[in-house]
Amino acid sequence: MLNFSKCHSILITGASRGLGLEMVRQLLSTPERPKKNHRNRCRGTELQALAKSHPEVHVVTLDVTSDVSVNDAVQEVKSIVGADGLNCLINNAAINIHCDLDTVTRDVMMKTYEINTVAPLFVTKAFLPLLREAAGQGSGMGIHRSAVINVSSILGSVQLNWGEMGAPKLYAYRPSKSALNMITRSLAVDLEAEGILCVALHPGWVRTDLGGADADMSVEESISSVLPVICGLTEKDHGGFVSYNGETLPW
Ligand code: NDP
Repeated sequence: MLNFSKCHSILITGASRGLGLEMVRQLLSTPERPKKNHRNRCRGTELQALAKSHPEVHVVTLDVTSDVSVNDAVQEVKSIVGADGLNCLINNAAINIHCDLDTVTRDVMMKTYEINTVAPLFVTKAFLPLLREAAGQGSGMGIHRSAVINVSSILGSVQLNWGEMGAPKLYAYRPSKSALNMITRSLAVDLEAEGILCVALHPGWVRTDLGGADADMSVEESISSVLPVICGLTEKDHGGFVSYNGETLPW
C-alpha cells in the first residue's frame, strides 16, 4: 500500500518510456495517488494516452539539457501546482552509451555527463523555488513534504566496481552516476535545513532500452519495489544511496 496522502505532485523526467513510464502507470493505479502527476519531455505515445484518460497526468515537454526547455517546464509546472509547490522531483532521464577502454571517446563522456550528471543538478536548481514552496508547508522529511530523488545506478558505486560487478565496461555511464551520487550528497548537505529530502536511488537491473534484454527484472517488478521505497523515505534516508529493495548501497 502506497501512502500518497500528502504528496500532491510528482514530476518525473524521462517518462516517455522505460522506468519513468512505468512509474506513471503504477502511480495511477494507487488509490491515494498524487492529484497532480507526472510530467516529462515526451514523444511517448503511451504517456500521451495515459494523460488523455487521466486528467491528473500532465505531460510537459522537457529536454533536460536545455536551459530554455527547463525554464519553460518550470513555468508550466508552476501553473499546474500553484501555491502548493512541488512535492517530489524524480530525476530519472538518462542515457547509457556502451563503451569500454578501447571505444570510449571524449564526445561520449561529455554527452553522458551532460544528460546523466549535469542535467539533474540544473533541473533541481530550476525547480528549487517550487520545491521550497512545498517544503515551507510541511514538517519532517519525505515526499509528503519536498524531495529530490536522483535515479542513479549500482554501477555508479566505486566500492562495488570490482570482481564480478566490475564486468560491465561502461566508461561513460558508471562515472556519470558516481558523480550524480556526489551531487545528491552535496544537495543533501545544502537543502537539509530547508527540509528537502535528497536521495540517490538504484532501481535494479531492468529490461528497458537502457538496461537491455538480459536484465534481471521487468519494469513492473522494479517499479513495484521502487515506489514503496520512495514513499517510505524519511530523514534517516536523507543524503543516502538506496536500492529498489530498500537496502543502503555503498558509495
Ligand atoms: P530508458 O532508456 O528506457 O529511458 C530513458 C528515458 O530518458 C526516456 O524517457 C528518454 O526520453 C529520457 N531522456 C533521455 N535523454 C533525455 C533528455 N535530454 N531530456 C529528457 N529526457 C531524456 O531508460 P530506463 O528507464 O532504463 O532508465 C531510467 C533511469 O534508471 C536512468 O536514470 C537509468 O540510469 C536508471 N537505471 C536503469 C537501470 C536499468 O537496468 N534499466 C539500472 C540502473 C539505473 P526519449 O524517449 O525522449 O529519448
